[in-house]
Amino acid sequence: MPAIPEGSLVLVTGASGFIAAHLCSVLLINGHKVRGTVRSAEKGEYLKRLYDGVGDFEYVIVEDIADPHAFDEAVKGVDGIAHTASPFYLDAKTHDELLKPAIEGTVNVMRSAQEFNPHLKRLVITSSVAAVVDPSPRGAKHAGGPPYTMNEEDWNEYSPRVVEEKGVDAPGSDKYRASKTLAERAAWKFMEDNHPSWDFATINPPLVFGPVIHQVESPEKLNTSVASFWSYIEGKKTDDDLKESGGNWVDVRDVAYAHYAALTTPAAANQRFIVSNGPFNGQDIVDIIHSFPDQSKRFPIVPVGKPGAGEEINKKATVFSGHKAEKVLGVEYKTLRVCVEDMYKSLEEKFDEKHVPDHRI
Ligand code: NDP
Repeated sequence: MPAIPEGSLVLVTGASGFIAAHLCSVLLINGHKVRGTVRSAEKGEYLKRLYDGVGDFEYVIVEDIADPHAFDEAVKGVDGIAHTASPFYLDAKTHDELLKPAIEGTVNVMRSAQEFNPHLKRLVITSSVAAVVDPSPRGAKHAGGPPYTMNEEDWNEYSPRVVEEKGVDAPGSDKYRASKTLAERAAWKFMEDNHPSWDFATINPPLVFGPVIHQVESPEKLNTSVASFWSYIEGKKTDDDLKESGGNWVDVRDVAYAHYAALTTPAAANQRFIVSNGPFNGQDIVDIIHSFPDQSKRFPIVPVGKPGAGEEINKKATVFSGHKAEKVLGVEYKTLRVCVEDMYKSLEEKFDEKHVPDHRI
C-alpha cells in the first residue's frame, strides 16, 4: 500500500500534547499540512503561534475523544492520521477514566475514518511499551531473571487481567498499562474485522523525555514523563531512588520522527514499532544534572548517589528493543545527555524564575 503523498494533509489528534506538538512540527517542516485536534481554542491558538512561519497548521476542537462522533468532521479530506490523544497519568481513581477514552477514542477515530474518508492512506496510533511489557511479579518470560529483551512480538497480558480482577483497586500503573494494551488490541481487531482500504501502524515508546514545546504554564502541569524528570530538579528524589532501573527511555524528537516515518514509509504498513533507546536510571539523570555549569550551587538538593554507577544498573534491566524502528523507519536515537540537556534548557526558558528552582545559596 502507498504511504501518504508529499505535501498532503495529516490529522494529528491531541495536538496540544507533549509528543504531538513535536510531531506537528516534523510534519510541517517536511512540507505536510497539519490539522490538529485540541480541547480548547486557547490551545489551538497557542499552536498556531508556535507554527507561524513553519507551515500550514489549522486546528479543530474535539472536546472528548470518547464521544462516538468526535472525529466525524476532523477526518474528512486528510491523507494520513496520527492518533496520539489518550490520557496518561498513573493515579487514576477509576479504571474507566483511562480505559474509556483510550479504547473508545481509538475505535472512534478508526470508525470515522472508514465512514467519512475514502481517500485515507495510513493511520498511525501512539501506543506504548505499556502494551508490550510483562509487568507480572514473576512473568513467565522473566522467569530466568533479567536482563530480558522484549520486542514487537510481545504483549502485556497481565495488566488487563489485573484491572478486570481488581477493578478500581488495581494499581494505577496497571490501569494505565491496561488502557494502552486494550486500546491497541481494539485497533488491531478493527483492522481484522473491517479490512479498511488504508493501512495502519503503531508506535510503542517507553518513557519519553526531551524538550517541551507545547503549552504548559507551570511544572505542576507538566505531562507525566517530563514531570518525572522535573522531580529530580525539584529535589524530590533521594539517593535510594537512584538505585533502581527507571525503565527504558527515548527522546521525544525521535518519537515524533518515528510517527512521521510510519506515515510516509511504505514498508511500515501494518507493523508495530517499539521506539526505544534502552534502559536508564535515576543515577544517569543526576550525573547529567550535576554536570551542568555551576551545578554544585544550583542543585545542592539533587542527590549525588554514586556517580557512574548507572551503567551496572542498566545491565540488569529489561530492554525494549528499538532496532526495528532504526531499520524500517530510519530512527537515529539521540543520547540521554543531549536529551536531558535540551529538556532542561526548554523548561528553564519556559517557566519564569519563580518556577525554576535555583537553589543557589
Ligand atoms: P500529553 O498528556 O502531553 O498529551 C495527551 C494529549 O491527549 C493532549 O493533547 C490531551 O489534551 C489529549 N487528551 C487526553 N485525553 C483526552 C480526551 N478525553 N479528549 C480529548 N483529548 C484528550 O501526553 P503525551 O504527549 O506524553 O502522550 C501522548 C500519547 O503518547 C498518549 O497516547 C500516551 O499514552 C503515549 N505515550 C506517552 C509516553 C510518554 O512517556 N510521554 C510513553 C508512551 C506512550 P489536553 O492538552 O487538553 O490535556
